[in-house]
Amino acid sequence: MSNNSEISTPIRLVLFSSEECWACPEVEMIVHQVVGTSMGDIVHVSTIDVDEDPEAATKYGVYKLPALMVNEEIVLHGSVTEDDVRDILWTRLITEILKTEEIASLRKENMLNITMNALQSVSGEELVRPNIGDYVHLGTVLQTTLSMYALDPLMPELFYLAGREVGKYGAMQYHLSMLNRKIGTTLRPNKRFNEFLKAIVSYYSNVDVLPYLLAEEASYEKINDSEARIYLKNLLTACVSSEFTETTCDFTAGEIAGSAEAITGRFAVCIETACQSKGDDSCVFHLKLVSDREAAKRPLPLSEDKHARHERRETFFELLHEITLEIKDSLLMKKRLRPKIGDFVHISALQTRIMGLKLMDEFSSSILYAAGREFGVVGPGKPILYEIARTLHNSFPLSLGDAVRIMKKYLSHPTSYLGREYSFVQDSVIDEEQEKYVIRLFEYANSSGAPNLGVKFCDFFAGYLAGRIHLLTEEDPQVIETACQGSGAKYCEFSIEPLS
Ligand SMILES: [Zn+2]
Ligand SMILES: [Zn+2]
Repeated sequence: MSNNSEISTPIRLVLFSSEECWACPEVEMIVHQVVGTSMGDIVHVSTIDVDEDPEAATKYGVYKLPALMVNEEIVLHGSVTEDDVRDILWTRLITEILKTEEIASLRKENMLNITMNALQSVSGEELVRPNIGDYVHLGTVLQTTLSMYALDPLMPELFYLAGREVGKYGAMQYHLSMLNRKIGTTLRPNKRFNEFLKAIVSYYSNVDVLPYLLAEEASYEKINDSEARIYLKNLLTACVSSEFTETTCDFTAGEIAGSAEAITGRFAVCIETACQSKGDDSCVFHLKLVSDREAAKRPLPLSEDKHARHERRETFFELLHEITLEIKDSLLMKKRLRPKIGDFVHISALQTRIMGLKLMDEFSSSILYAAGREFGVVGPGKPILYEIARTLHNSFPLSLGDAVRIMKKYLSHPTSYLGREYSFVQDSVIDEEQEKYVIRLFEYANSSGAPNLGVKFCDFFAGYLAGRIHLLTEEDPQVIETACQGSGAKYCEFSIEPLS
């Protein structure tokens, strides 16, 4: 299992087309021929109709059709010969595959760093956030995860792969051996699987020994010596029952598969077959040990047709909006989503997700930002934001400077502190004339106490700021994280200025 190529982030290939484009169907056919024969399991193809989604065309600078994009870079613009299309595709896809392998080994190291850090905090040795403690409301994890699911149908799979890395290379193995000492002494493979199952249910639900507060109840049912079902009740990403058509706990499925591989020394695949987010009684994870790497791969989501992406997104945000009302009731202590253990989780649950994704896939930054922006525009809390704005201003839209000052007040509003996402907010003017401002967050759950990996982690919040400011100014500002606790700074700092 030492070969790095086992971890491969899907490569994104996007074809831009339209009804009127006469050359598009042929290019589409070639794409499917090249990808379909040998790369179907590592390349995810989707089509964007520029008439339906003109924003995407503008964003990526598409001015001629057909256009092909590999991992956010346009590699073909306008019609060319069939051979050219094949050449370009092959060269670009092979380059991307090689790049992925190089990054893999570095990732393993980082993963261990991230999770070892959580150990000290959860064992109570040292708090990462001295002022507000190391627990955050689970709504934060839920809303971040679901906004990302909404934007990109590939996200569930990326969450799975990130979870798998965390399970395989993070501190989870250490936890499992601690929870069940027999793991260290049992050598027979079948017995090891038994001991693993006992440990994994303990990992999710034994909150006295390991207070991550991930789930409320856990149990398992062994099917045979290499297969089992694991039941988790009120898991942090599914404790609000809803009508989602997809499961929402792929990160956990990945963690289970990854840690099973680490403990049993075999390949593993895990699929969530029922989920509370879909209205089921509990989340059910079907875990299977398999003999080779190929069998451990999950099928990528089907390449979508033109309308599917848009509809899926609408449905997701609608349901997300519904469940935020329940989250709000929980924040205001009107209701407990998890009667026994309460609705706060250890910050490492959020951090492993975000950092796992960022280390897995360099493109997750732009999805995190886009998801944050969308959440900023449509998410909860708008009445309070407008109320604050109205008490200070009577004419709208606001200038950028005024909007930033409103945001500071909004983020410091008592209800904003209920989730314990951060302890303190600061704003300052860098240059009023040039309209340059910053907002700083202290003890931000997303990145507090993270080891310095030289990476900034808070793209979601940057996007969120951009979305909220858009509501006040009707303009899209440029928001960039200029300092992050995840790369050694004392706070996370976001610079805000007009889009040039
Ligand atoms: Zn679930
Ligand atoms: Zn940060």
